[in-house]
Amino acid sequence: MTGTPARQTDATAEGDAAPRPADDRRRVLLAAPRGYCAGVDRAVIAVEKALEQYGAPIYVRHEIVHNKYVVKTLEKKGAIFVEETEEVPEGEIVIFSAHGVAPAVHEEAERGKLATIDATCPLVTKVHKEAVRYAKEDYDILLIGHEGHEEVIGTSGEAPEHITLVDGPEDAKNVEVRDPEKVVWLSQTTLSVDETMETVEALQGRYPNLLSPPSDDICYATQNRQTAIKQVAAEADLVLVVGSKNSSNSVRLVETALGHGAKAGHLVDGAEEIDESWLEGVTTIGVSSGASVPEVLVDGVLEWLAQRGWEDVEIVQPVKEHMQFSLPKELRRDLRAEAARKTAGPEAAADAAAAGRAAG
Ligand code: SF4
Repeated sequence: MTGTPARQTDATAEGDAAPRPADDRRRVLLAAPRGYCAGVDRAVIAVEKALEQYGAPIYVRHEIVHNKYVVKTLEKKGAIFVEETEEVPEGEIVIFSAHGVAPAVHEEAERGKLATIDATCPLVTKVHKEAVRYAKEDYDILLIGHEGHEEVIGTSGEAPEHITLVDGPEDAKNVEVRDPEKVVWLSQTTLSVDETMETVEALQGRYPNLLSPPSDDICYATQNRQTAIKQVAAEADLVLVVGSKNSSNSVRLVETALGHGAKAGHLVDGAEEIDESWLEGVTTIGVSSGASVPEVLVDGVLEWLAQRGWEDVEIVQPVKEHMQFSLPKELRRDLRAEAARKTAGPEAAADAAAAGRAAG
């Protein structure tokens, strides 16, 4: 990483403002946490491990995560990205992305005799399970999310007859339900916390008995990145968020920065997209990255800024993260069998594979 962090805010001092520098001092405030979340990390490693374990090609339905750089890097290693499961030749391996898929997609894969590895983030799976449970109890489910987003399509597919999409506070004014006494809201995991609460308030105005999800659907990573960018934005003349345009949580970071004091904010896939004119009259630049962005792209942005006089990098970390998810179970089973084969011969490997299959 370029530059030595001169300051790191205390993780317990959430909301504290960083001290102001002298007016002529150029500095970068680097938000933390930023970049890869546990769900993205798991999905990318799943594709890499699958390529090592089974060899290329490995098919991946949709972008494994919404980041061009990650997708291109995996393509070079032998991953083939497809839009629909039916594009995958019979008998091949297909990985489902971190955004999750509807049950109908699992059925399609079964019909096509595909071996599947489900890299859906466990926090997306949690929302799917909530949808199934409330649908079974015959609730109308108001799913707050962005129309057309893969995660919303996957969650809606769990109970299409019970789920209505609510795309923001305006949409909340027009939504209709069967029984106002039996309504619950759920949400996409990567939304703006502030806007979602606005939508919920609008819905509560119409349905006072609206039930809330048992725990937050907006995931820890989305929330933490928004908390950090708010603190940075309060002092920044300019905020640069590294992320792709189709990455919901990255787009939300720019919006959050602009809503919390940043004078300007831009989403860039990498340093090559920064416009020199954005730096005019700027002293403090905030930098963050979406949950699908590898750190190498942030390093590129920091280097680009350092070459133009912004060498002083301070980390602003209002919250720390320790979340990790284990690899998809299908992959863990085969990796265990492979490890057993290497250490104890083919019989032990067959036992390990059989035990894995029995355990599901
Ligand atoms: S952003 Fe949140 S829900 Fe999405 S993959 Fe990362 S941890 Fe999972």
